Amino acid sequence: MMDNVDVLVVGGGIHGVGVAQAAAAAGYTVLLVEERHLAAGTSSRSSKLIHGGLRYLESGQYSLVHESLRERAILLRVAPHLVVRRDFLLPLYHDSRRGPWTMRAGLTLYWLLAGLRPHTGWGSIAKSRWAELDGLSTHELQAVLRYSDACTDDAALTRAVAASARELGAMIFEGTRLHAATKTARGWQVQLQRDNTLSTVTCAVLVNAAGPWVEQVRTRVQPPPPSSPVSLVAGTHIELRGALQHGPYYFEARDGRGIFAIPWHGRTLVGTTERVHVEDPALVAPTTAEIEYLQSEYARRFPTRSTQVESAWAGLRVLPADGAVFHRARETVLVVDEEAHPRWLAIYGGKLTGYRAAAERIVRRLAPSLPARARRADTRTLRLPLDPSGVRLDR
Ligand SMILES: Cc1cc2nc3c(=O)[nH]c(=O)nc-3n(C[C@H](O)[C@H](O)[C@H](O)COP(=O)(O)OP(=O)(O)OC[C@H]3O[C@@H](n4cnc5c(N)ncnc54)[C@H](O)[C@@H]3O)c2cc1C
Repeated sequence: MMDNVDVLVVGGGIHGVGVAQAAAAAGYTVLLVEERHLAAGTSSRSSKLIHGGLRYLESGQYSLVHESLRERAILLRVAPHLVVRRDFLLPLYHDSRRGPWTMRAGLTLYWLLAGLRPHTGWGSIAKSRWAELDGLSTHELQAVLRYSDACTDDAALTRAVAASARELGAMIFEGTRLHAATKTARGWQVQLQRDNTLSTVTCAVLVNAAGPWVEQVRTRVQPPPPSSPVSLVAGTHIELRGALQHGPYYFEARDGRGIFAIPWHGRTLVGTTERVHVEDPALVAPTTAEIEYLQSEYARRFPTRSTQVESAWAGLRVLPADGAVFHRARETVLVVDEEAHPRWLAIYGGKLTGYRAAAERIVRRLAPSLPARARRADTRTLRLPLDPSGVRLDR
């Protein structure tokens, strides 16, 4: 292992590997350490959507939606084997809180924010075709709208970005955790722990990409860097027996929340929920009530399909500490120790979809504290390699 690097990244989720890739592409020497294995945390527990986030329009998060739609277009180009366009179906019932005209207006705005590009528009599914839609309940059904968005395999995407970072020269060590770090005149002295052995490396800048563990990692650092008030919000998904032939479907639950039902490796993925989690992030797990809620909402709209749960899992969002859970801002918050010459940068929150843009922003922010290096690549156009585990998505 090199004992001095420009950038040391803690955490092998999508943000960590994204920063490793962007920093290596900018020419820096990079070491990433991941305590368990790549995508062991939230980055294997998302809804697997590469999307602008239609529902964020309701809370006026237009710049987030716009940036995410731009990133969606980039990822469709650089990772066509892992990010695929899908026709999302939006069934609207007489009791839906958002009626067809509201949704049509929302979809038009979504299309506008995507630059009115071809293939990104929306339309309606004719009533004569509703019977083909996976047993979707037609009782009180008013309209079925169709719009374009994208899906991925989040863990495979994370591994592919890590493989790209490695190709650019980054070192990535799984099974290795940040044990402690102390600030020095030139950056950091960092103790890493692998099995029961400690080793020391130095770096110019330290990036805390530990997702839900961001605060735990911060407390291992001396002097303690600034923090951002956040809460952890658990989201559960269930995998049901049997694959959907169409979709993803995006329908409204009785409480007005949006639920996705997504074709997923021969099963149907249904999610998600929102519940504040105050315990250790490692302890997050689906509750019986959450599983029953998802089963019941799915059965209400797909009454003839199986609700047999093959698997259930939960992940943690890192969200600003204030506001109602469902409407909290989803922007990525970056916290540094010093504005002009940051040596420490911690990532709070963010989306899978926006990882590349966030990583590039982070590398630009850290540049004043790093030596001049020759750029190796541009992540906007650099094609991602295959996932080393061989996962690819059908187009
Ligand atoms: C239910 C749910 C659904 C979502 N759906 C979507 C979606 O459809 N689309 C979308 O764009 N976004 C979605 N998101 C958001 C997205 O999944 C997250 O923003 C993203 O995965 C966070 O990645 P991360 O790298 O920040 O954290 P993580 O993936 O959690 O990675 C952090 C890593 O740090 C490691 N770590 C912790 N402590 C240490 C240490 N001391 N030393 C070394 N390593 C350490 C952990 O093992 C972990 O692997 C969803 C999130 C949730 C919870």
